[in-house]
Amino acid sequence: MPELPEVETSRCGIEPHIINNKINGVVIRQKKIRWPIPVSLKKNLPAHTTTSIKRPGKYPLPKTSKGTLIIHLGMSGSLHIVSNKISAEKPDHFEIAFSNGKLLRLRDPRRFGAVLWTRQDIEKHKLIENLGPEPLTDEFTADYIHQASRKRKVAIKTFIMNSHIVVGVGNIYANEALFMASIHPGRMSSRVSLASYKRLVETIKDILQQAIEQGGTTLRDFSREDGKPGYFQQKLNIYGKAGQPCTNCKQPIKQIRQQQRSTYYCSHCQN
Ligand SMILES: [Zn+2]
Repeated sequence: MPELPEVETSRCGIEPHIINNKINGVVIRQKKIRWPIPVSLKKNLPAHTTTSIKRPGKYPLPKTSKGTLIIHLGMSGSLHIVSNKISAEKPDHFEIAFSNGKLLRLRDPRRFGAVLWTRQDIEKHKLIENLGPEPLTDEFTADYIHQASRKRKVAIKTFIMNSHIVVGVGNIYANEALFMASIHPGRMSSRVSLASYKRLVETIKDILQQAIEQGGTTLRDFSREDGKPGYFQQKLNIYGKAGQPCTNCKQPIKQIRQQQRSTYYCSHCQN
């Protein structure tokens, strides 16, 4: 699943190709993704210029003077910038053609992604307005998350993956951050101390920052002929390593399920 660092890397990669460029046309090859792609885009986008592309949470938001496109990559989606001479493949469900000869293409084999359109103030859109703070901003602090956790009867891992609390901490990053902060993923979020939240917040920021920087080093490949952005693989300490020795204490790593997602932890190092 594309996580916040991948989405941010995509946003950075796309930005120079679409900003201040006029939209020539829109192609919808398969409108049935998570929600139907609005056919009205074919008339709402052409002749308008993209003025910005922000990214609250995991939603890239290309904006024109007429409204804002809301994109989500779902389980398997990816955005590509390709020359308009490159023909589309089967999972290339949606594309925008720009006057500079480039296409912005959404490839989404599993079709859990989304392309929506709004003319309203994007901050008030139902998908955006209740999002928690961005993890890499000064709004995301130990005091904030400690305060928010006081009345929550949920496990800490579930808590930090809730996008209303903080955006962009996906399953892999939650596993890794809790391991590095020595916090057991099943611990009740309301029972985690301020000192532990301090470690956790620093760890989340470090992990995401590193991932974005690594992604940044692949950016020059973003508009390769095949349109593959060349995603990066971060070194993982705990995720996917059930039964293998903990990098810290050599005890075997354990695996459980929480909220239908895999959790990996070391019962010796995390409590
Ligand atoms: Zn350990």
